[in-house]
Amino acid sequence: MQIRENFSLKAFNTFGIDVRAKYFSAFSSVDELEGILNSPFSHLHSQLILGGGSNLLFTKDFDGTVLKNEIKGIEITHQDNDFIYVKAGAGVNWHEFVLYCIRNGYAGVENLSLIPGNVGASPMQNIGAYGVEVKDVFHQLEAYHINEKTLRPFSLSECEFGYRESVFKRKYKNQFVITSVSFRLRNTPVFNTSYGAIQQKLEKMGVKELSIQVISQAVINIRSAKLPDWKELGNAGSFFKNPQIQNSQFQQLKEKFPGIIAFPAGEHHTKLAAGWLIEQCGWKGYRNGDAGCYSKQALVLVNYGTATGKEVFDLSEEIILSVKNKFGVTLEREVNIL
Ligand SMILES: Cc1cc2nc3c(=O)[nH]c(=O)nc-3n(C[C@H](O)[C@H](O)[C@H](O)COP(=O)(O)OP(=O)(O)OC[C@H]3O[C@@H](n4cnc5c(N)ncnc54)[C@H](O)[C@@H]3O)c2cc1C
Repeated sequence: MQIRENFSLKAFNTFGIDVRAKYFSAFSSVDELEGILNSPFSHLHSQLILGGGSNLLFTKDFDGTVLKNEIKGIEITHQDNDFIYVKAGAGVNWHEFVLYCIRNGYAGVENLSLIPGNVGASPMQNIGAYGVEVKDVFHQLEAYHINEKTLRPFSLSECEFGYRESVFKRKYKNQFVITSVSFRLRNTPVFNTSYGAIQQKLEKMGVKELSIQVISQAVINIRSAKLPDWKELGNAGSFFKNPQIQNSQFQQLKEKFPGIIAFPAGEHHTKLAAGWLIEQCGWKGYRNGDAGCYSKQALVLVNYGTATGKEVFDLSEEIILSVKNKFGVTLEREVNIL
């Protein structure tokens, strides 16, 4: 077990925020994780489990131990006529996992291509894109309880998935380390191209026959054109969730703002496009020092180079306030603030 002190996290968060962890260590097996957590050293400090650092904003140095999850490995656990069950270590890169599935003809995750981060964090906020969420392909996961020192499985219902939510962000926050996730993938694909942009992109690509490969490529093309590459421009994807409001409130907003972009969210609620609300408040392309709002997508806050996490956070506060003042709607952050 190697423990580094006063360790720079700049290369370990996609915002590229230059903060330091008091201590930093990595583990590549449950035994190694147990070894670190059970050491007398560990009891003295708070811990942060780190995956790819693509859904975090560090606003200050981390005064504890950052534990980087590097548990690798992908295996098929069982299969039946319709499904194949694939288990991946929490430290496997998400997009590499998607590519592995596509290479092998396992369908279900193609719409989730190119999402940064690791497999272990995918159930944390039930990652989603282009009409698919992790819950749609989830089978079960294993997680290590930090205080009880036991490994336990979680089924689909036990994860209590919601829109960018799970039990690990609420009731069990900071209690478990997810060590592996099992997915239930299809031998015969059921294509989901209902998300407008995919259909258009496939047509543009001249695709005659659908396959998981071409859908993945369409998603990659759309994402590459729309989202900034975090290796060049620090960001954590969508900074805010799309707010959900009562249908009655939506009707009032629609009268005042006929161009408002929204989607039905069940019988009584409507989901608003947060990016549109932010754009209407004039933030798109805004820059103050090195903290800014991306010029092609207002939902993405960016670090042009040397912004501090506090500067990005303060900008997010200003955005929340202006959206509240103009629309009476409160934006909630999707990114974890530390
Ligand atoms: C350009 C860009 C585009 C993005 N697009 C999308 C998108 O389309 N859809 C979407 O849903 N998200 C998107 N994201 C957000 C992000 O990629 C996902 O939330 C991803 O799952 C985060 O994974 P990570 O490994 O980087 O997690 P981290 O940022 O390292 O961690 C996120 C949280 O999970 C916790 N955590 C991480 N691993 C574990 C573990 N093994 N056990 C317990 N806790 C853990 C951390 O402590 C932290 O609280 C995007 C981000 C970027 C930069």
